[in-house]
Amino acid sequence: MYDKIIDNNNPHSNLKVQPPINQPSQINKECLAHLKPKKRSVEEYVGGILEGNRTILSQAITLVESSLYEHQHMAQQIIEKCLPYAGKSIRVGITGVPGVGKSTTIEALGTSLTAKGHRLAVLAIDPSSEKTKGSILGDKTRMETLANDPNSFIRPSPSAGSLGGVARKTREIIVLCEAAGFDIVFVETVGVGQSEVAVASMVDFFLLLQLANAGDELQGIKRGIMEMADAISINKADGDNKQLCELAAQQYRNALALFPASESGWKPVVFTSSAYTLEGIDKIWENVTKYVQITKANGYFESKRNEQNLRILSETIDFYLKEGFYNNDKIKDLLEKSRQDVLANKISAYVAAQNLVREYFQTK
Ligand code: GDP
Repeated sequence: MYDKIIDNNNPHSNLKVQPPINQPSQINKECLAHLKPKKRSVEEYVGGILEGNRTILSQAITLVESSLYEHQHMAQQIIEKCLPYAGKSIRVGITGVPGVGKSTTIEALGTSLTAKGHRLAVLAIDPSSEKTKGSILGDKTRMETLANDPNSFIRPSPSAGSLGGVARKTREIIVLCEAAGFDIVFVETVGVGQSEVAVASMVDFFLLLQLANAGDELQGIKRGIMEMADAISINKADGDNKQLCELAAQQYRNALALFPASESGWKPVVFTSSAYTLEGIDKIWENVTKYVQITKANGYFESKRNEQNLRILSETIDFYLKEGFYNNDKIKDLLEKSRQDVLANKISAYVAAQNLVREYFQTK
């Protein structure tokens, strides 16, 4: 119908259409090569990581995060080969409720560290990302300067699986980052639950960021989180808020004084900081450095890492046992039947579970 109205040959018509223009592709072919990970051998991955090649490091991390069997198989071989080169970084956990200023602080502290020649990897553990698929900590634009800094590497939280799974993957990612030459690793997490425990089990030093006057001084804040902290910084200590932050810091110091001394020989410190004015930001690293000196001298640093390694051992055994059990075809059928039997009160849950486990080991 329109071709009757649109007549390009009619000199008296205002309705003319332009001939179609061949639209050039919006995708840069050069970039396409980076988007599609090349198939590499384990040796190529390891070689690239050891050279500090960030593209290859990213791709290896993608393998670690993948749940495909062949990716996992390859990832485990890469990790194994990277292990001798890992372990040399200082690992710092950073937690605090959303909005406390974690990313702004990491950006401020991180850029000062890379300016001093350090290489910094920033990882995240975000248990919410599993449910929401969009992660609170995953937004890279939050740390723009660091994201464009050749001496830093930012990776959002692995999103698949349980908190235990995410934590396991993050530990493996730490190994890869260390092998790639990053001498400082930050692991960021939201201070809302179990994720701090997971982070504390993989870092050397744990920093808790708090807000003044958030109503949780000494009451709402979980004692367990405070006990894990090696340093508490009351953030946003600028402008009118500065005095309130000092006051809150004093309250935290008083509260911490009641806690029993830690076997690390380190007394947790409390100070104020502002990621805006940068006042107090250097105290974070000063304290990390002091902590590392003290705990390396008294042997705690080493023994904590050993303990963490033993924990990895038992967690990994748990993981493989469970995975083997639930993926076993015979068990899948029996489990379904047992569920129905338990619901119909034909058998107790305890006996059914014991039977299933016995059956699993007999079929192995
Ligand atoms: P996160 O959710 O813990 O990572 O918090 P963000 O770093 O995203 O910060 C949350 C908000 O607080 C942002 O609007 C920041 O600009 C602001 N903010 C962060 N640090 C400071 C600070 O030191 N002082 C002030 N006044 N605001 C800050």
